[in-house]
Amino acid sequence: MSPEQLRHYLQFYRDLGVKDLYRQAVRKAAVRATPEAQAIPDVLPALSPANDSLLRILEDIGDCRRCRLHEGRTHLVFGVGKEQAPLVFVGEGPGAEEDAQGIPFVGRAGQLLTQMIEGTAKREGIPLKREDVYICNVVKCRPPGNRTPEPDEMEICGQFLYRQLRVIQPKAICALGGTAARALTGHREGVTKMRGKWFQWRQIPVMVTYHPSYLLRAFNQSAKREAWEDLKKLLHYVYD
Ligand code: URA
Repeated sequence: MSPEQLRHYLQFYRDLGVKDLYRQAVRKAAVRATPEAQAIPDVLPALSPANDSLLRILEDIGDCRRCRLHEGRTHLVFGVGKEQAPLVFVGEGPGAEEDAQGIPFVGRAGQLLTQMIEGTAKREGIPLKREDVYICNVVKCRPPGNRTPEPDEMEICGQFLYRQLRVIQPKAICALGGTAARALTGHREGVTKMRGKWFQWRQIPVMVTYHPSYLLRAFNQSAKREAWEDLKKLLHYVYD
């Protein structure tokens, strides 16, 4: 692997914000720098190819069996929306309903997300429908029992999220919940500390807010109010 490629890979992990994996990659890179290691086949994921597109990414994912999450899936949930969408919402991973339909955010949390997007837009005088934004997840297959994805699953699937975001190049990204926020920004604080603030993914502004599943569980109205505030800020930034 050339030093240039190596720098690229390290940047890739840093951008994904997966710090442990970044450290592992640095260690692998150190080993790879030895002459014997030059012969080791390349096990790191490919970066965005030239002329990448959502269709090409979908073809490359194929009938993915790269990690254990494929074992329990009904459908791989790639993402929905236009390639030119100025705004991308990133969740954690598909739930039961998403797995059944192959579409992200279509269960109860998804219905709330749709209401939040369209309701906030309407109140703010922004003509916006769910179809106008792009929606996807950090991992594309449902983790069993809706558990949090493991770091290696996020690493493997992260290459596709990376490519999706590079292709779409939105004006802003919304990280829904702590897993997406940490995967995109590399920050390790809880979502309550991060919400309502701007971070960056490869120079693209990232707004962190609560995951709609949390809002469905939350008994306090204040989390819901805060999430509406976050969305308001985000939508004005993107659509004003
Ligand atoms: N929760 C997520 O994080 N993503 C979905 O697609 C659905 C629920």
